[in-house]
Amino acid sequence: MSLKICINGKFYDKEKARISVFDHGLLYGDGVFEGIRSYSGLIFRLKQHIDRLYNSAKAIRLNIPINKEKMTREVISTLKKNKLTNAYIRLVVTRGVGDLGLDPRKCPHPTYFIITDRIKLYPQEFYENGLHIVTAKTKRHLPEALDPRIKSLNYLNNILAKINAIDAGVEEAIMLTHEEYVTECTGDNIFMIKNSRLITPPSELGALEGITQDAVIEIARKNKIHVSEKKIKVKDLYGADECFLTGTAAELIPVVKIDNRKIGTGNPGPITEFLTLEFHKLTKKDGVRYRI
Ligand code: PMP
Repeated sequence: MSLKICINGKFYDKEKARISVFDHGLLYGDGVFEGIRSYSGLIFRLKQHIDRLYNSAKAIRLNIPINKEKMTREVISTLKKNKLTNAYIRLVVTRGVGDLGLDPRKCPHPTYFIITDRIKLYPQEFYENGLHIVTAKTKRHLPEALDPRIKSLNYLNNILAKINAIDAGVEEAIMLTHEEYVTECTGDNIFMIKNSRLITPPSELGALEGITQDAVIEIARKNKIHVSEKKIKVKDLYGADECFLTGTAAELIPVVKIDNRKIGTGNPGPITEFLTLEFHKLTKKDGVRYRI
């Protein structure tokens, strides 16, 4: 059976799901999106993802044509239609069809679509042995230019940093501010552990407010692990006891080498392992349930 895609509330076979070449999502990256995951029929923190989508849209003055409740129902019907219980969900809202100019007022009907697919995971060895990452040459764009809390379709800044990672033969790259503070990686937030304390950079510097990041902070606090959101530099990461990345697709993934320097023992550390186990427990209970 061909995958069914929901576009503006209607289902299309994957091969027939089409967006206009005049859609400003394509022409200008003018739109917002979410990446969400379901685990055995439980959509992890769906409410938080839907809230972030609507906040991103509001920040770019994009009116999503349906309300949050309807959007939630449509995500669930798309999963059901495709009989998926363990899925990756991509929810996209674009400015819609306009003319060739930038003017968003010329786009009267925003487009939304929902893709649900089987999740593609990082290879298991990355979780067991840890990732090698590098510092990207490409700097994070200024938060004053594009608020990092907006999960927009404009990912070129991240893609250029991802190309830096690919050129270095690794999967991920750390993006720094102009003042050389660590913000996040191209598609994941970053944490370090020093003397059993957890540190992650604040969003204001230029990082997305990650939903996985937030869950990890909650787990840590519940378990009396000290957490702070604070400015760090790459040299702080070099001296960390442990380091890991968080994201919807990656979950928690240990980092064992940065710029060819070994982090801690060079193996995934005990606090990372503990937080990973607790996170997996959370994915079994925290979200919106559906039946196919
Ligand atoms: N930072 C960026 C730039 C991202 O695109 C993502 C999502 N892939 C994240 C961080 C992680 O956010 P979340 O935990 O909400 O998936």
